[in-house]
Amino acid sequence: MDTLIRLHRSPIWGPLVRLVGLPKPVELARHAGAYVGEALAGRTAAVLAAKGGTCMAQLEAAVRNAGGARWNAADAQALDVLIVDATACAALADFRELYEVFHPLAGRLARNGRVLLVGPAAGEGPVSQAVARGMDGFLRSLAKEVGRRGIAANLLQVEQGAADRIEGALRFFCGPQTAYVTGQVVRIGAMTAAPSAVPQVAALAGKSALVTGAARGIGLAIAERLAQEGAHVVAADVPAAEADLRALCARIGGSALPLDITSPDAPGALCAALRERGGVDIVVHNAGITRDRTMAKMEASQWQQVLDVNLEAVARIDEALLADSVLRDHGRVVCLSSISGIAGNFGQTNYATSKAALIGYVAGQAPRYAARGITFNAVAPGFIETAMTKKVPFMTREIGRRLNSLLQGGQPRDVAELVTFLASPGAYGISGQTVRVCGQGLMGA
Ligand code: NAD
Repeated sequence: MDTLIRLHRSPIWGPLVRLVGLPKPVELARHAGAYVGEALAGRTAAVLAAKGGTCMAQLEAAVRNAGGARWNAADAQALDVLIVDATACAALADFRELYEVFHPLAGRLARNGRVLLVGPAAGEGPVSQAVARGMDGFLRSLAKEVGRRGIAANLLQVEQGAADRIEGALRFFCGPQTAYVTGQVVRIGAMTAAPSAVPQVAALAGKSALVTGAARGIGLAIAERLAQEGAHVVAADVPAAEADLRALCARIGGSALPLDITSPDAPGALCAALRERGGVDIVVHNAGITRDRTMAKMEASQWQQVLDVNLEAVARIDEALLADSVLRDHGRVVCLSSISGIAGNFGQTNYATSKAALIGYVAGQAPRYAARGITFNAVAPGFIETAMTKKVPFMTREIGRRLNSLLQGGQPRDVAELVTFLASPGAYGISGQTVRVCGQGLMGA
């Protein structure tokens, strides 16, 4: 449990931490199991239109399918999930509709609740762009206000013709898996070819996945989570981590592949191993390193190692997987970027270059493979409680951990949840994007 939450609860320390005014984070409600059919079972949900939304039918059906209970405004009960369809808003005066809908309800949201604003994607012209951007600003501010109560608030921007692609995203952004993903703006697009059938529950049975850097930390959590949904995971990491890889694979029924992803024969070896399994559906480029130094002090080798592992190996592996069609149609590629790649960070010119480049890389790849139904996305973690962040000096760590809307650090599992969602069939409307899993960290906000 988070240290501050524990201190607040302690009969001895509680009065003292309150006296000095230390922030009081809410214990986030996380779900340890696999996806369930009725993701909103036992939760009250309201689907409201701001100016007669255009996706109401899809949103209401999605909530019904997920088992959400209709919330009655006249009851005293708190509201667990608030979904607002603002896709019909098209004029500057329509912002008033947001006020009308949210003002009476913002104070009635339950702890650990969810807010999903569904708005139009920006079209051409200043008004359309202003409407889309204004909703972005509204959502980000609302997320900061409700985050104090452990509530995650996110915005889906729906492109023309993509309303039927909302359901998977609604289940994720309104469900327990999104505990540490808040203040995000995600576009639901019509670009990527749809799979022939989209299971309501985003299970991955029969899918094959590659996770690099899977021996520990975030990669380990991703491998475990994908396997929990039924995927067969090929777990790759450096030969020195072979024992950990094998222990993981014994637990999750996966296959260990010890290799250095930067070695010249790594793409070929990966292709061979994955072809033996009939190809791969999910590729998670998680392996990453830091070699922090200021620009003036950085050695060429430190620069190059980071660029090699974090970026160039990713591009070379994808090139091989795509050239040989080892990556199957309707495949999913997810790259681990970082907040550092969005905001920049002192002493991390090499790391930030590589992580920012991945954001551009997925945006560029997405349209090229959309006709094959393949999506490319990046995930940008903020402060995640791992062995890496444990090494940070206490005060710096405490500041990094608290500077977000939820006032706490995330868990490797939170990153794994977002990756698993983006790897699922229901995420086919999302491609070329970068989603942060950072509790709406202030860095690069
Ligand atoms: P970690 O250092 O705990 O794990 C990284 C894994 O990658 C290790 O098992 C390592 O052996 C493996 N690896 C490194 N070089 C490799 C190579 N050449 N070939 C194969 N495997 C290799 O890191 P983590 O904290 O779990 O981070 C995972 C990813 O998330 C990284 O890409 C990192 O940049 C990113 N990230 C982490 C955080 C955080 O707070 N921990 C924040 C932002 C981004």
